[in-house]
Amino acid sequence: MTEHGDPDRRSPDPHAPGHDALAQTSREIAPRDRGAEPARRTSWLPGPGQGFGVTFAQMFRKVTTEEYPEVPKVTKPRYHGRHVLNRHPDGLEKCVGCELCAWACPADAIYVEGGDNTEDERYSPGERYGRVYQINYLRCIFCGLCIEACPTRSLTMSNDFELADDNRGDLIYTKEQLMAPLLPGMEAPPHAMRLGDDEKDYYIRTPDPASPAEPVTVETP
Ligand code: SF4
Ligand code: SF4
Repeated sequence: MTEHGDPDRRSPDPHAPGHDALAQTSREIAPRDRGAEPARRTSWLPGPGQGFGVTFAQMFRKVTTEEYPEVPKVTKPRYHGRHVLNRHPDGLEKCVGCELCAWACPADAIYVEGGDNTEDERYSPGERYGRVYQINYLRCIFCGLCIEACPTRSLTMSNDFELADDNRGDLIYTKEQLMAPLLPGMEAPPHAMRLGDDEKDYYIRTPDPASPAEPVTVETP
């Protein structure tokens, strides 16, 4: 330990920087260290007897048995599980390939490559879409910063926690695995914009009660 870290080895020079503070620290600590009494026994049983006593008492307590996987565990509603890439009500993708989620990720778990939409081949309402999208679940710590960063609410998290596997490759999820399923009324992209002529029509519009405006968060294969 250094001189500054050990109060018993403080500098003998009373003018040295920090001497007074160290001396005061030493006075405060010394009575506690040197005058401490040994912990008193609370039982007349010898140590091993006390240990077996804990085991014996445990036998009469209620047993909590999780019957997973036969009975799937129900998580809290806001549990951070596997990610989902959501769709607009007509099936177009909400992801615009901006990479903000990848930049926000502290674990460098997201990889995005954007692509350009054309009138003949449109995947999202904007100029660009997420052509390549991957999340490496060997890196992800499920902090949720990526979904906070997403400007289109494309990326959300589901309650699915079953992400174990026996090899690295299968834990890098691709866009196809992360995309939300097509709900009734949705059409698989590429296709033209169905909800308006402009991408703003997708974000500034009156919610249609017949179409789910909120992101899909729990549907997983
Ligand atoms: S939840 Fe956190 S660690 Fe996982 S991909 Fe998102 S930002 Fe990265
Ligand atoms: S998921 Fe959201 S933040 Fe990430 S690239 Fe797509 S639009 Fe951007």
